[in-house]
Amino acid sequence: MEDNEVKSKKVYLSNYGCQMNVRDSEVICGLLKDSGYKICSDEKQADVIIFNTCSVRQHAEDRVWSQIGAFKKTGTVKRKRNLRDSPQETGTVPIIGIVGCMAKNYAEKIFERSPDVDFAVGPQDIDKIPDILSRLSRNKEQSPKSGDSPLFQSKIWETDGQIRPDEIYHNNFYQDKEHAYLVISEGCSNFCSYCVVPYVRGGLRHRKVENILREAQGAIAQGITRITLLGQNVNAYQNGDIDFSGLLQRLDKIDGLKQINFFTSHPKDADPDFFKVIRDSQKLVKSLHLPLQSGSDKILKLMNRGYSAKEYLALIDSYRKIVKGGLLTSDIIVGFPGESEDDFSRTFELVNKAEFNAAYIFKYSPRPHTEALKMADDVERADKEKRHARLLELQRGISNKKNAKRR
Ligand code: SF4
Repeated sequence: MEDNEVKSKKVYLSNYGCQMNVRDSEVICGLLKDSGYKICSDEKQADVIIFNTCSVRQHAEDRVWSQIGAFKKTGTVKRKRNLRDSPQETGTVPIIGIVGCMAKNYAEKIFERSPDVDFAVGPQDIDKIPDILSRLSRNKEQSPKSGDSPLFQSKIWETDGQIRPDEIYHNNFYQDKEHAYLVISEGCSNFCSYCVVPYVRGGLRHRKVENILREAQGAIAQGITRITLLGQNVNAYQNGDIDFSGLLQRLDKIDGLKQINFFTSHPKDADPDFFKVIRDSQKLVKSLHLPLQSGSDKILKLMNRGYSAKEYLALIDSYRKIVKGGLLTSDIIVGFPGESEDDFSRTFELVNKAEFNAAYIFKYSPRPHTEALKMADDVERADKEKRHARLLELQRGISNKKNAKRR
């Protein structure tokens, strides 16, 4: 693609899913800006439309398909079809891409489901997007020729990457002027039986301390004062002999950085020493997100979580004793395969006892590749709904009480 051609291209990016995806979207926007693209906020003006997707639950994937459907209705995708089938018409044919976890999960099958999509890029391949767009723009001049072009001829998919180059973590695109997300580790090796992350984002890899500190300093030089450290399992961080506590202590000393937060911690990697680091840090927000997932030992075992309900309770007791007044939030899944009424009552009881400040409660949905997919999804939909509603109501009451006390 000629440089002056690129300069006129506008990219619209729609983000779905977790904070890790938010940061990945910033990374993609920064890489595209570097290549001369402009980021725009109206998909109707865009030459390139990118969906950065999430596969954590079926619902998250459904939202992406329905957004593509909505674009069809508003004419964005129709415009693409019209121009493709009537080359005599002039105008821009938008290039459409699905990137992130869904792309990794479904690879070229994406194009069977939605022939309007031109490229699919997995989370470990996002550095290749500028080159892919350049290749697609060149292809556009030669193809597709209606009738003699098999579905895949004009498509590109890069979904097999294992490791992303560290250089992609730049400081040249932040959505927020004062707050930045900072990835400290990628992937996860815990293989919780319901979770797709180890399959779509690979095994746990830790970024080097010096690269993390450099990125933090670069962000601060641009006026960022608050940072949220990201990883699927931040408290398992290890680089050489520096663990998560060591990393926090180093970040704590950076001038200009006023506040540090982090997501997500795993109970099996949390201990009193970690809580003391939270207590002693000048800049860490006194808050811990510690996913419980279930209060039943039987279900925790089936989930491969690596702790019992009793151990979880002891852990949060220790957290509250050490980090006085610290906030505690959690994630819970209801309706996991094999969850009986008795198992659910144990979760209900534990949530009642734990008194989280807030909890995100999800209904189980089977995910591709996972161990839980081999288990019968045997909790009736109506029971999942009921349990979800009951737990939400309980947690709402607890959160309201806690918030009233804090006022
Ligand atoms: S710890 Fe478990 S739930 Fe969290 S990302 Fe890893 S496999 Fe998924």
